[in-house]
Amino acid sequence: MKNKYKISFIIPVRDEEKTLLDLSNKIAEECKKCAKISDFEIIFIDDGSQDNSLKVLKKLKTQNNFIKVLSLRKNFGKSVALQVGFNAASGDLIFTIDADLQDDPAEIPNFINKIDEGYDLVSGFKFNRLDSKEKCIASSVFNFITSRASSIKIHDFNCGFKLYRKEVAKSFNMHSEMHRYTPVLAELNGFHCTEVKVHHQKRMHGVSKYGYSRYLNGLFDFIAVMYLMRYADKPMYFFGKIALVCGVLGIFCLFQNIVLAVLFALSAVVILCFGILAHIVMLGIIKPERVENYVKERLL
Ligand code: UDP
Ligand code: MG
Repeated sequence: MKNKYKISFIIPVRDEEKTLLDLSNKIAEECKKCAKISDFEIIFIDDGSQDNSLKVLKKLKTQNNFIKVLSLRKNFGKSVALQVGFNAASGDLIFTIDADLQDDPAEIPNFINKIDEGYDLVSGFKFNRLDSKEKCIASSVFNFITSRASSIKIHDFNCGFKLYRKEVAKSFNMHSEMHRYTPVLAELNGFHCTEVKVHHQKRMHGVSKYGYSRYLNGLFDFIAVMYLMRYADKPMYFFGKIALVCGVLGIFCLFQNIVLAVLFALSAVVILCFGILAHIVMLGIIKPERVENYVKERLL
């Protein structure tokens, strides 16, 4: 197994002017020390910052040739920023790390060791979480449900500190706030995930960019991801099952309540039509090249 890697660091930035210099210095220092890293690049994605982040990044770029800066036209959200970074990354391994210095770059080697053990995605686990009580409780509920529903045995899906083999990161097509579910998206494509414990640091500068809307958005993304996990390439299995239940209920109601029976029968037909439409849409979207991503090795 290869044990020297080129690493790309993807750092989404929204109004984080105070930590950028420190963060890039710490990452560079760690990369120069780590025997498993042959080369590295740090890609900052400025996600529509309103403060001086872009100015700071441009200065850092002129001083360091390992730094790359991509600036988005407006604030598109962390998932889009990460996707822009994944598209631009040229490393064998791709780290994501938040810009606020709540994660410690000194822990980089622990992630790489897990890749050497054969895993494809390594997720940080903030076991000593230093966020507010309300955020910790909501996060525990989110992690418990996601882990149970997806059968992925990790404790902290939303940790920003993660390491991906390039094949994993390049398989994503992230939108909305899907960054919370990258381990689920990875397992969907047959990759294997694990976790390492990381020390969480308090946010020293700036503020969190997420309010209460994160819980509602997280719920809708969860439903979408669970659907994707089971039915992405077979929508008829999903709609067909619901139509079947409606059809059976319609038959049961036939001799008791004719109105209900007709309603159930009509629902079954409409849902079945949705299934056919979803199937046609899927055929248009999912291209044959998609399956290339499922091949682990080629002995041709
Ligand atoms: N971020 C971003 N775009 C956004 C929101 C956040 O690029 O619309 C970045 C932010 O600058 C930080 C990371 O995503 O580097 C995580 O954000 P934050 O620290 O606010 O999240 P929390 O730690 O509160 O979950
Ligand atoms: Mg943070």
